[in-house]
Amino acid sequence: MAASCVFCKIIKGDIPSMKVFESDKTLAFLDINPLAYGHTLVIPKHHGAKLTDIPDEHLTELLPVASRIARASGAENFNILQNNGRIAHQMVDHVHVHMIPKPNEQEGLG
Ligand code: 5GP
Ligand code: ZN
Repeated sequence: MAASCVFCKIIKGDIPSMKVFESDKTLAFLDINPLAYGHTLVIPKHHGAKLTDIPDEHLTELLPVASRIARASGAENFNILQNNGRIAHQMVDHVHVHMIPKPNEQEGLG
């Protein structure tokens, strides 16, 4: 845990979130500023800024959980995104995987 980290505060419950999935080492919740309906973030409960800062055992659920959420949401088209470092567009320094549904144009989103 990092005292000033917004995602650690979400894990602790100090900041509210719309939780989608939770286990002992992983949390998934809706993105506060979604790029599409259902945009979800999947994070390890172990704090680390970049993927390379986190021990492997805390990363094992990230992609399976993102996959399960995509499947459960019925998203036929979606992007999985994981940014590391400012130049790579990372804004929150706690590892997170984006699951971003890509709706049909007819649905008027994305
Ligand atoms: P990054 O650019 O670091 O890969 O993405 C960070 C994501 O975290 C952004 O999509 C942003 O909307 C989301 N985010 C930032 N602060 C909060 C928050 O307090 N709650 C939630 N649910 N999402 C947040
Ligand atoms: Zn953190």
